[in-house]
Amino acid sequence: MDALLQPVSTLSGIGPQSTIRFEKLGVHCIKDLLFHLPHRYQDRTRIYPINSLLPGMSVLFCGTVEFTEVLMKGRRSLLCRLSDSTGYISLKFFHFTAKQKADLSPGTLVSCFGEIRYGYQGKEIAHPEYKIITSTDNITEPCLTPIYPLTEGLHQGTVRKAITQALTLYFQAPEQLADWLPSPLLKQYNYPTLKHALQALHQPEQQSTEQLQQGNLIALKRLAFEELLAHHLILLKNKQSVKKWLAPVLTTTKAKSQSFLNALPFQLTKAQNRVIEEIIHDCQSHHPMLRLVQGDVGSGKTVVAAYAALLALSSHYQVAIMAPTELLADQHNRNFNQWFKHHDTQIVYLTGQLKGKLRKQALAAIEDGTAGIIIGTHALFQESVNFHQLGLIIIDEQHRFGVHQRLALREKGQTKDSRPHQLVMTATPIPRTLAMLQYSDLDISIIDELPPGRKPVTTCVIPAERREQIIEKINNWTNNKNQTYWVCTLIEESEVLQCEAAENTAEYLTQALPNVRVALVHGRMKAIEKDAIMQGFKNHDYDLLVATTVIEVGVDVPNASLMIIENPERLGLSQLHQLRGRVGRGDQESYCLLMYQTPLSNMSKQRLSILRESNDGFIIAEKDLELRGPGDVMGTRQTGLMQFKIANLERDITLLDQVQDAANLISSQYPHSIQPLIDRWLGQTTLYSEV
Ligand code: ADP
Ligand code: MG
Repeated sequence: MDALLQPVSTLSGIGPQSTIRFEKLGVHCIKDLLFHLPHRYQDRTRIYPINSLLPGMSVLFCGTVEFTEVLMKGRRSLLCRLSDSTGYISLKFFHFTAKQKADLSPGTLVSCFGEIRYGYQGKEIAHPEYKIITSTDNITEPCLTPIYPLTEGLHQGTVRKAITQALTLYFQAPEQLADWLPSPLLKQYNYPTLKHALQALHQPEQQSTEQLQQGNLIALKRLAFEELLAHHLILLKNKQSVKKWLAPVLTTTKAKSQSFLNALPFQLTKAQNRVIEEIIHDCQSHHPMLRLVQGDVGSGKTVVAAYAALLALSSHYQVAIMAPTELLADQHNRNFNQWFKHHDTQIVYLTGQLKGKLRKQALAAIEDGTAGIIIGTHALFQESVNFHQLGLIIIDEQHRFGVHQRLALREKGQTKDSRPHQLVMTATPIPRTLAMLQYSDLDISIIDELPPGRKPVTTCVIPAERREQIIEKINNWTNNKNQTYWVCTLIEESEVLQCEAAENTAEYLTQALPNVRVALVHGRMKAIEKDAIMQGFKNHDYDLLVATTVIEVGVDVPNASLMIIENPERLGLSQLHQLRGRVGRGDQESYCLLMYQTPLSNMSKQRLSILRESNDGFIIAEKDLELRGPGDVMGTRQTGLMQFKIANLERDITLLDQVQDAANLISSQYPHSIQPLIDRWLGQTTLYSEV
């Protein structure tokens, strides 16, 4: 048997306990050890002068003991002051022995390694690794020291020893480990071979110290690239395996299409028509469509979805439309009822609110097929819902749903060998690069055009000190018969606080503006109440709507042309852009006032000014990515799906273009590399497997 395929327990010094601990890290055989890569390095290659030490640095330094004393104040501790010719630092020990105290007597030369922080007495270091030395010669290491990810009970030393043995076995016969990156690709990017790359990371060379610290060592890049490639490939593979399923052919007739389009109160934009063509094409095939429609707020995604629904209805299949909130589902319900009023199909609106007899009736209509269009929230994928013949699933604002919810609904419509088509829509543009790691299992359509006549919203960034002035502006606005939104934002986690803030603001504004009819809507109100308020605002029964971020996906009110957003610095740019999209829907000039709390950090200032300068959701998303990094932009929900061993999106984002090209090359010319690359980097992980 291949030496590298032997279990780690065959290495010396790895007993049953360590074997179990290695298993927890996904390390089973010796080969896995080679891919258990250091997540960082310690620099013991040089001695730092004490005055150059900064908090957060983990470094090696030397000094002579000035004094050592036991402190009795607070928790009993040992304090030892070390100094070199440049300055001094305190070593602090909370657990110590009398011998330790005696050893650290004045005049003793000590070398120390650990993380520097600031304490009451200036620079200090708690429980450092230290050694009494006689001279500073030979105390540095020639190279950076790799630090490996550990699990409880497994020590750095054990991992290091195991990896050293693994490397030795590997170097004896490097051909045991295939390099799945084709050599033309390595040449093209000047990447080192696998062997070279692994060695460079596990046993870094002296001359690579700086590059490794900066994260731009070519060996590191190569492995990060390979890992990102594996992640991209598994999504492509998933897509292919979904496409192998059968799906109903959904088509409509010219006459039906014409009558649908003629009944609309507007003409479709070029972009809408293009995306509809793409959907028509997908649905004609015998295999499931998997399409993501990205389009800025107000770009008119709903009517595109409705056209897709027409395809399903014309072919006697049901269509399910899932929205993340009741408000949004309700809006779809109204739109679809309007657009499909001449069709002899029943539209069922199913939310958690629907109870008793009405619910029973709705479920029966879904099950016997009387209902052609089923609109709802996540209530749609509850167990009690059985579809008669589901041909198309439409998911709106998909970023708000977890992957699991999407899958649960898809399973609903699954028969022995056939699956429904799937259309997902999002107004949160995903920067192209990230889309590759997140949505490569979907085909992407972009509605990159707004319906004609929309005026860009003028956005101003204003300090909260000017609140009174802004309130006065609402008065003028109301006198001119225009309506206003006032959005209270707080940290999203605390909905209760957010609602309280909105309640207080509404009360305050009611008093401050006696001639203005103020309404309040927030997430803790009942759906019927919210609905009534939103409807009232739409009918202009109110002039000012105080709201929490629930209106992000709220009802269309063209007469509302002023929006004030409190504490905009707390929200992501894309979310702010979504909120802002509620105004600018009519034909008058619209304004969005971002009222921030002072002082505002430079970074926040920069971020908010992006909104002032651009009305394009894609540009905003790209900038947000630049400023905040992928983690924040994608949100924890999404990044949680992507655990990398070595790739780091903040650092390696520029590799993604290469990844795309490489995936094309490998798919067309080296398909046998695909599975091994996936296995190597994703192992047994099932996170992505949708099939
Ligand atoms: P979103 O893409 O944000 O979901 P909607 O589908 O809600 O946008 O559309 C926003 C508004 O624009 C709706 O009132 C819709 O009826 C209208 N609309 C959609 N397409 C067009 C068009 N081609 N011309 C004019 N208005 C349109
Ligand atoms: Mg929408």
